Amino acid sequence: MNTASRVLVTGGAGFIGSAYVRMLLGPDGPGHTQVTVLDKLTYAGNPANLDAVRDHPGFAFVHGDVCDPALVDKLVSEHDQIVHFAAESHVDRSILAADAFVRTNVLGTQTLLEAAVRNGVSRVVQISTDEVYGSIDTGSWTEEQPLRPNSPYAASKASADLIALAHHRTHGLDVRVTRCSNNYGHHQFPEKVVPLFITRLLDGGRVPLYGDGSHVRDWLHVDDHVRAVELVRTRGRAGEVYHVGGGTELSNRELTAALLDACGADWSRVDHVEDRKGHDRRYSVDWTKIRDELGYRPGRDFATGLAETVAWYAEHRSWWQPLAARAAL
Ligand code: NAD
Repeated sequence: MNTASRVLVTGGAGFIGSAYVRMLLGPDGPGHTQVTVLDKLTYAGNPANLDAVRDHPGFAFVHGDVCDPALVDKLVSEHDQIVHFAAESHVDRSILAADAFVRTNVLGTQTLLEAAVRNGVSRVVQISTDEVYGSIDTGSWTEEQPLRPNSPYAASKASADLIALAHHRTHGLDVRVTRCSNNYGHHQFPEKVVPLFITRLLDGGRVPLYGDGSHVRDWLHVDDHVRAVELVRTRGRAGEVYHVGGGTELSNRELTAALLDACGADWSRVDHVEDRKGHDRRYSVDWTKIRDELGYRPGRDFATGLAETVAWYAEHRSWWQPLAARAAL
């Protein structure tokens, strides 16, 4: 059988992890799946993200830390597979202080992997990022590209990926790694650029554009991302890395223009601020492998996805307004 009956999802109260859990237990999920979320509920974790599945008979939530070996060992022993989203995920925070990034992203991943080996878990999906490669001016990275991370966040994710792949080579653990581009969509904590700009613009506030705004990112709707993760979990190969792209490459200036437009605002609301330290110029993953091997294609057109995202934030003020203070750095 390809799909497990008991899946442990770490970081399942965050933006992408909760989208994955809602998909797993929703009408597009595999069915017959028990899902346990392990989440520390840091500033970015939000139990409300799981409201849609809270009463599902296949759902359980455990409040805890991926760095807690006893708790992790017990939980892992009760599950067949692990999908590992839990992380400190915001680059700007890693520039201010990186200790939580190294602890959760590196030590937490290692704690999970050791428990997976000890308990004979059949599969681990490590969720990673295109940021592990550094910056690329033209062209796209393939999965074989050496890792040259620049921010402390990216370095911690690269370390986690290497430890995960080492557990495959050393112990024969079935580990699969996904590296995706920038996600956007509903339920994203209002610190990353898309929800930060939308919530501030909806509130009549101002938004900060880093440097000259020429930094380029590929945009991936979170619903496309979780479909890709599920393809990798159910049909990917052990020891392999899969890139997940969204197919919409935009400079931050272009993204800002799209967000202003979608929120009915103009450039007078933009503050041009000092560039982020060590700001990577461009990320670009070649996602031919997941397309050819697993049939992945991003389904969400960016303009529609962005309009839906703005509409979601406009309709869910009670979700994000209490979080705005927590988002401040
Ligand atoms: P997020 O910050 O929204 O959520 C992270 C979740 O992990 C939160 O619920 C938090 O409470 C939990 N967590 C943090 N530390 C923990 C710990 N020690 N133990 C247990 N739980 C802990 O992040 P996200 O945007 O949903 O990202 C999920 C994953 O995807 C991360 O691994 C991130 O590196 C990766 N990723 C994200 C993006 C993006 O655009 N958001 C892009 C590429 C990769």
